[in-house]
Amino acid sequence: PPEGADAVLEGLDPEQRAVATALHGPVCVLAGAGTGKTRAITHRIAYGVRAGIVQPASVLAVTFTARAAGEMRGRLRQLGAGGVQARTFHAAALRQLQYFWPRVVGGPLPQLVERKVQLVAEAAARVRIRLDRNELRDVAGEIEWAKVTQTVPEDYPAAVAKAGREAPRDPAEISRVYTAYEQLKRERSVIDFEDVLLLTVGVLEERYDVAEQVRSQYQHFVVDEYQDVSPLQQRLLDLWVGGRGNLCVVGDASQTIYSFTGATPEFLLSFRARYPDATVVKLVRDYRSTPQVVHLANGLLAQARGQAAAHRLELVSQREPGPEPAFTEYADEPAEAEGTARRIRDLIASGVRPSEIAVLYRVNAQSEVYEQALADAGVPYQLRGAERFFERPEVREAGMLLRGAARAGGGAGAGLDEADVPAQVRAVLGSRGWTPEPPAGSGAVRDRWESLAALVRLAEDFVRARPQATLADLVAELDERAGAQHAPTVEGVTLASLHAAKGLEWDAVFLVGLSEGMVPITYAKTDEQVEEERRLLYVGVTRARRHLALSWSLSRAPGGRAGRRPSRFLTGLRPGTAARGGAPGGGARSGVERPAVGRRRRGPVHCRVCGRSLSEAGEIKLMRCEDCPSELDEGLYERLREWRSEQARQLGQPPYCVFT
Ligand code: ATP
Ligand code: MG
Repeated sequence: PPEGADAVLEGLDPEQRAVATALHGPVCVLAGAGTGKTRAITHRIAYGVRAGIVQPASVLAVTFTARAAGEMRGRLRQLGAGGVQARTFHAAALRQLQYFWPRVVGGPLPQLVERKVQLVAEAAARVRIRLDRNELRDVAGEIEWAKVTQTVPEDYPAAVAKAGREAPRDPAEISRVYTAYEQLKRERSVIDFEDVLLLTVGVLEERYDVAEQVRSQYQHFVVDEYQDVSPLQQRLLDLWVGGRGNLCVVGDASQTIYSFTGATPEFLLSFRARYPDATVVKLVRDYRSTPQVVHLANGLLAQARGQAAAHRLELVSQREPGPEPAFTEYADEPAEAEGTARRIRDLIASGVRPSEIAVLYRVNAQSEVYEQALADAGVPYQLRGAERFFERPEVREAGMLLRGAARAGGGAGAGLDEADVPAQVRAVLGSRGWTPEPPAGSGAVRDRWESLAALVRLAEDFVRARPQATLADLVAELDERAGAQHAPTVEGVTLASLHAAKGLEWDAVFLVGLSEGMVPITYAKTDEQVEEERRLLYVGVTRARRHLALSWSLSRAPGGRAGRRPSRFLTGLRPGTAARGGAPGGGARSGVERPAVGRRRRGPVHCRVCGRSLSEAGEIKLMRCEDCPSELDEGLYERLREWRSEQARQLGQPPYCVFT
């Protein structure tokens, strides 16, 4: 690790350095994708810590996903600034709430609602409103939106009208369901995900002593992806900061993609008005992508309209030129998936690692056909349930064995050079029959092997970053990752929705299903909703470092009516289409590929949440087992519950002491 604090500033450009060294007072970074915002704030924290100006425990870094938080913690440790809290708003709030609840309210914090849609169904039944499955999900989404925008049930109809939102049902009805839902939760002493933030806000607002205690703990705040902060999160942030202004926010209005859940770039764009003495830094050098990718991203934004568009920042690539983006039209979806799988196989053959490749789509239901095509092509891919990595039995067992070995002061039978942690891990796993070579065939045995191989790789990466680390350090790292549900990168192609790809990057990105009705999605009706879809595509395009492929298909099934059209956002960007708003197209290959002859045999289908293999027809259709929460829940409650029990187990009583 670098010696002094100044070493942390190496590898930053002058503007990023300005961010990293502005340790006091409000700082706002407005910058496009790939310009190093996340890097700048991570180095800023490390610089403050290394320079001795900032205590690690006094920093609260807020990120958008648990994965991003885990990555930031890892990076901070590499930079010699371990011990800094990097969490999502929810995780940070939950931790504080758990700690203060017994003192402020008494007793333990109520349980989190596990099946929220189910509870909404009961609430609807109570007020005699019939909702079908889809409506239930939509109404649950509306209740969420109302809560994060701090709208009480009575005000919901007016708020919907004001926001120009299209309610899935009569707003007066939704308001009644919302009232009944809140009532039901009270009766059962459960809270939902939004309540975690609402209650934390409530405690901090009503209890001055509690607010003071939190503020004396945290002096420095950093928020990544600030364009997607909700009014409720902002209120919490204001309470944490308490007018002190040691707040650094970074964001890109052109990447606002969560406004349907109540997030708004308003706070990012009005930061200067709220903090007139703020240091505002703009970054325009794009370090992530080739000039070709950046050109396409700029072209896409040049057509954007609306408020966020007024704040777009033209990106300038700092990288060597690479291949032109490829635009491909396919006859139908299976052909698109097979064509994509073929190209991925070629990329892997040319030396690109599978973990450096992603297939991104608009809705999760699109993943099935890609999972199938990749499996058929023999390409490993990462199941969406990969974040539940630490719950797999073999990983839990390995964790226990490693903990035991660490306590015993070395690997079981490792004998081995003490410092060689990966070798110790291999030895411990080897004692249970694991071999460095994969077993023949696929299925459960292979899955087990892959999980353990991922653990070995994690150990290798860990010691590369921290050569002095011991097995005990690795065990601590595993515990922390398990708590944050931060799975190691699995050596496989990533399949993810565009929303889930935020903040991440890959060497090769395949944006698939880019037809009208998908991007923009059919239910994006208002101009603002359509603009959000364009931003979503911008997020997708800017995930690529080097290879970028965009594709769509003319019909869903083979032999179907070729009624689909390519996304309107591609007009002017793909070859042979007239540029609108001066956006030039990239010279690219294009052509209609023939659908594959005959359907392939189906491989095993796995639950996309927990990875269990499925056999029930209904489950296979949903790609999800009955026990797992729906897409809407994203496994959040589950993960929270696991996280809480894990924390409780690790810390003993009282379990959530943030101050020790
Ligand atoms: P996004 O808006 O997508 O979240 P970002 O602005 O947060 O992007 P980062 O993820 O921080 O961008 O950086 C993008 C890539 O560029 C990363 O691989 C990062 O390591 C690299 N990078 C950033 N700044 C520099 C720099 N000064 N020199 C070299 N590489 C850099
Ligand atoms: Mg970022």
